[in-house]
Parts: sequence; C-alpha cells; structure tokens
Amino acid sequence: MNRLANGEPKGNLSRRIIEIKGIVQGVGFRPFIFQIAKRYGLHGWVLNTSGGVLIEVEGEEESLHAFLDDLTMQLPPLARIETISVIEAEAAGYQDFKIRQSQAQLGEYISISPDVGTCAGCQRELMDITDHRYGYPFINCTNCGPRFSIITDIPYDRQYTSMQHFQMCDTCAQEYEDPDDRRFHAQPNACAQCGPLLNFIGGTPLQVINGDVIKLTVHALQEGKIVAVKGLGGFHLACDAADETAVTKLRLRKHRYGKAMAVMMKDLEQLARYCELSAAEEKLLMSPRRPIVILQQRKGAKLAPSVTQGLPTLGVMLPYTPLHFLLLANYQQPLVMTSGNISEEPLVSSNVEALEKLGGIADCFLMHNRDVINKIDDSLTRVIASREAVIRRARGYAPEPMLLPEQLPEILGCGPEQKNTFCLTRDNHAFVSQHIGDLDNLPTLEYYERMIAFYKQIFRINPRIVAYDLHPAYLSTQYAKSIGNVQLLGVQHHHAHIVSCMLENGITDQVIGIACDGTGFGTDGNLWGGEFLLADYRSFTRLGHFKYVRMPGGEKAIKEPYRMAYGYLYSLFGKGANAFPKYIESIEADELLLMEQQMYKHLYAPLTSSCARLFDAVSAIINIARIARYEGEAAIRLESIIDERVIDYYDFDLQEYILNPAPILQGVYDDLENDIAPSTIAAKFHNTLTNAITKVCREISNLTGVKKVCLSGGVFQNAYLLKGLVKHLTKEGFRVFWQQKVPANDGGISLGQVMIAHYNVSK
Ligand SMILES: [Zn+2]
Ligand SMILES: [Zn+2]
Ligand SMILES: [Zn+2]
Repeated sequence: MNRLANGEPKGNLSRRIIEIKGIVQGVGFRPFIFQIAKRYGLHGWVLNTSGGVLIEVEGEEESLHAFLDDLTMQLPPLARIETISVIEAEAAGYQDFKIRQSQAQLGEYISISPDVGTCAGCQRELMDITDHRYGYPFINCTNCGPRFSIITDIPYDRQYTSMQHFQMCDTCAQEYEDPDDRRFHAQPNACAQCGPLLNFIGGTPLQVINGDVIKLTVHALQEGKIVAVKGLGGFHLACDAADETAVTKLRLRKHRYGKAMAVMMKDLEQLARYCELSAAEEKLLMSPRRPIVILQQRKGAKLAPSVTQGLPTLGVMLPYTPLHFLLLANYQQPLVMTSGNISEEPLVSSNVEALEKLGGIADCFLMHNRDVINKIDDSLTRVIASREAVIRRARGYAPEPMLLPEQLPEILGCGPEQKNTFCLTRDNHAFVSQHIGDLDNLPTLEYYERMIAFYKQIFRINPRIVAYDLHPAYLSTQYAKSIGNVQLLGVQHHHAHIVSCMLENGITDQVIGIACDGTGFGTDGNLWGGEFLLADYRSFTRLGHFKYVRMPGGEKAIKEPYRMAYGYLYSLFGKGANAFPKYIESIEADELLLMEQQMYKHLYAPLTSSCARLFDAVSAIINIARIARYEGEAAIRLESIIDERVIDYYDFDLQEYILNPAPILQGVYDDLENDIAPSTIAAKFHNTLTNAITKVCREISNLTGVKKVCLSGGVFQNAYLLKGLVKHLTKEGFRVFWQQKVPANDGGISLGQVMIAHYNVSK
C-alpha cells in the first residue's frame, strides 16, 4: 500500500491536475475554486499563471466528480472557460486547500477581463449608511470594477495595476486575504482609509476646492457649468442634459457641432421617461458591459434640443462606476456625458492632460488619483433585429478575444484609417483592440502605436505576418510598411469586411458578400463601397457592384453631399442633369461650373461605387443633409425620417450584377417635384435598396449555388435597411449573417485582415 509522508494510508484518494484557460483572472475565479474545494472537503491548491489558472485537487473520487461538475456549472458571472484539461494523478498528500502565489511563465498569456460596471452588491453597499464603504466612489469587488483600464502587465495582480501605489488598510487587507470574502483578491480593493480619493478643481483661477466633492460637482452642474469627470477609461465632459445653454456652450467649446451626444440616466425608471425601451435594450443597458445604447426617444421628451440635434434617437448609458452612481443619485437629472477629448483626438485620461487639454472646455474638474493606464472609450451599440450590434467596441468589450475557428500563427492586422482598431492573433484567439479612432492626427497615431506595443506585450505576441489595407495613404498602411523583418500582405478593404462578418458568425465556406460601405480602396485603384462579392477566407471574386460615378472634389464630396448628388446626376445623366432643375438651381453658379469642369475633365473626380455615397446624394437632393458635419450624417438623417408604413419603392436597373441607380434618382427627384413627403421618399429609397440587393443575391445564387449571405460595411449600421434585408433574404431561402460582436463599420476591418493574411501567407 502506498503511504503518505505522514504515514497515513492514502485509501482511495486520487488527484486531478486541472488547467483552465479563458477569462479566469480578476473575476473571482480562485475564491470560487477555493469554496467548492472546501464544500467537498478536498485538498490541494489553485493559482494564477500567465496562461490561466492551475489547480491541483485531491480527495475521494465522488467528491472530485462533484467538484468538477460545480466548477463548470456554477461559474462566477464574469468568468468564461475556453479550455479545460484534466489529468488524473496519484494523491500527493495535501493537508488543506490553499490559494498559492501567482506564477509567471515565459511566453504564456491569458485573456484579460474588460472593465466591469459596478455590481448590485457594491451598489447596495455604496448607498448603505451603515456600510464601511458608504459613499466611497471606488468601491468594487471580484465581480466588478476596473480591469483592463488599470493593468500594466499580467498576471492580473495588484502589483501590475495602477492600484500598486495604494497600501491596503487592515480591513481591506483582511477582506483581500479571506477566501470567503467577496473581495478576496479583488485587486483594486480599497476604502476611504486607504484607497484613491476624489478632488474638485474649480474657480478662477483654477484651484483645488475643499469640501464635499460630489456636492461641489452637483452645484456646478446646477449652475450650468461644464464639468470634466474622470471615469474608468478617461474623462467625460458633463453638463445638465436639459440645459440648452449649457449643452450649446459645450458644443461650441468642443467644436462639436453635428454629432449627437450621449446621456447618462440615473436608472431605468428615469430612462423610461425619455426613451422607448425593448426587453433586449434593457438587458443591454443593465449588462456588466454597460455600453451606450442607441434608443428611440419618446415624443415630447424634455432634453435640450442640442443634445441630439433633431435626431429622434438618443445614445443612453446607465451609471457604471460608483462615482457615476453617487453623482446621479445626488443630481437626479440626466447628464450629457460626452468623451473628454478635443476634436478627433483620443480620450484624455490623466489629470495633468485634462487640465492642459480640457481647460478650454470645462469650467471645473472632478478628478481622482487612481491612474488610467489604458485609455478606453465608452462602447456604443444598438439593437437591430432583436440582437445587439456593436458600433464602437471599447470599454466593457475589449480586450476580450474573438474565438477563431482554427489555430492561427501570430499575425497583426493593422486596420483601416477611420474608426481604426487593430487585431493580433495567437492560437485560436483574435484580440481586436478597443476603438482607436481616426488615424489622421498625431495623438491618435501615437495612441495606436502605443496600444499595439501594449497588446503585444500583455498577450505575448510577436507577429511575423502583418496585414494592411490596400489604400496607400492610410497611416495604418504606412505603419505596416515601416515594420521590418515581417511578411506583409495587402488586403482589399471589402474582402476584409466580409471575412470579418464570416468569422464572427463561424462561417468557414464560401459566401455571397454584400459590402455596403463608405469608401475603400479597390484592386482597380477606384474607391469601392457597394460590392457584390463571392468570398472565402483566401480570396474573393467581384461579381458586381454599384455603378461607378465620379466624386467631384474627391474627399470633399464626402463632407459635402450636395457635391455627391451632382456627381451622380452628371455621371448618370450627363447633360441630362439639367433636367433636375430643383436641385441644380440650389447650387451656386461658380460652384456648379467648377464641379462641371472636374467631372468633364476627370480632375479631382475619382470613380466610386460606394453605397454610402448614394445615401449622401439622395439626402442632398431632398435637402435633408447638404453638408455632413460628421461621418455618415446624411445617411443617419435619411434613415431617421423614414415613414415605416410606406412599402412602395423605386425602379432600379440591374444588369450583369451592376446596379445602376439612375432610375432610383429619377424616382426620388420626381417625388420631390410632386411634393411627396421626404419621409416617404426616404422609405421608398431604403425599400428599393432592399429589393435590389435581394435580387443581386438571387442572381449570384443562381450562378453559384451559394445560399449564405454576409452583410457588412458601415451602411449596415442602418437598422431599417438591415432588418429589411434580413427579412427579404430569409424569405427567399438564404441564410443571412451580419455583424454583431465587431462593428459592421471599419472597426471590424482588422479582424478580417488577419484571417485573410493567414490563408494567403501562412497556410
Ligand atoms: Zn462589486
Ligand atoms: Zn481600506
Ligand atoms: Zn469600410
């Protein structure tokens, strides 16, 4: 008989060595293991490694089975197991169950939890006057609080976070050490005695003002002031959402004129007074990810008109840090909470930077001394066809990996120019970065490069293959080409869109890819964006597209949709464009002459097949948006006025898979002449595209037999169009897939790039 060191017979004891990968750090996983081991009287240990969690557990067979059942069935809410390996071994004679010191292993890596909104337990304690942490704005536990935004390295231990400077007091240390406590190894654990604290800076000249910081902030907001509030991933600029003067002042100072601003509501009850809410939307708002959700406003909702600039929708989020809960509980009214940045630069995240950069916008500052290590924006999502569709993937989502259908080598996808994200792969993980932004300014480019370096470091990835967009002028392309000693691959923009959609839907065979987009560089040097592809991971065939038209003034036509309208009319009707007097006469004579020359001489008038540009043209012709103050404004406004009762549509011309929109524009114009309501025209236009794209799919399917359709590209953030297409195509027997986890816009490009690179370079 085997005997243990202390002479006891081992009996029928045996041991399991368990290795788990997934989101298992910073989510209360080790205390969970500790507790189930205790429940069944098992001995051994658990520890965090750089690659996941390692467990050795021993006891009687029956108890071990029960342990493994509970382990997989009763996971903590934020934990996610991707792989679990269990090896049987002889008992080692452990005398108790311990949580051991973390082990760092060279080259290993682990998924890192995104930041998590304050949980119900912490919310209760925060508002409980008898609680040790009553009113403490940094309360958190193993189920909630900052994660990605405060880490400097892995494993996720306090020493590798911005909490390392705060020495825990005895009370906090006791909780931290006690496996039965819900703050056991909660790395950001703190209280008012030992943790981060708030301060308020206001007055002229700016100075630290002593007193109750929340009350000072509430008072400033009541006075119509703009307050820079330090949150989880960076600063917000806040003001009273019902105060038109304050909101206008914020817009003027921030130079943000068109785009709607997000609002934070105290709770669902308050929200219901302003917005319609479906069950899916409510679930999303309340989820630990706490994104901004685009909702339909109630008629007569009394917010300052400048918040949405006339749009019927509103971006809303609920409080997600204890500080937000305290602020809203005391203020009681909805607050505008817009990104604290200047123009298109990245979010401001340090106190010094805030004073320097936001000094011209904010009247005062609500700050604290817990550093944001990794700045990260609020995520933006929308419910389309009862499912979440992420539009900006950032806080609460990144850096959670997308699981790939196969193992990939280490690859970097550099992403596009606008709404950039990058993507790094390893094994079957694709780490799509948080939303980086438009790479057209130096601070964003620096943020991009810094984040690539950081992701490479924390996920231990050293890519030897780098994919980039074909557009030669993109800074992400230039970045890729500046990396030495790697294999480079240029990937066509819309192929990347479609593969991104395939990947998140787990599709591995060929699909019909419908890319309805802004503009992306095509293999013929033209600006593509309304593409009918037959695609797989390796390659694509461009079977058809929206008919090419010229963009008078190039990029300028994107910002000025009235130019695009002219581009369409002149390209499709030539001199016949004069048969659209109501539109032509609205343009200044010298402007018209200039555009005519550009079109005629093909000067600064590139060819495009972009679908988004057709939306621009229609919006300009019916005078919904002659100028786009932000990207996509014309299309957003056109969608926002749709009369959903209208089922009518325009004629279209589809030949050899080329969609000629001339009859559509003619129809739009005739309706305009006949004083048909813009809301009807908008509906008819959308219905026409639904019909036309459905016909395209039918014809491609007849040719190829393919019945799966992937819809991607920025235009598919349009809920009405997407819903219509899903309905029509499904009715015709297609299986339809669209983007939900990564954006349909260019934020999804980097994910597609890595897989295409894998199939072309490493397979
Ligand atoms: Zn909590
Ligand atoms: Zn403490
Ligand atoms: Zn695109």
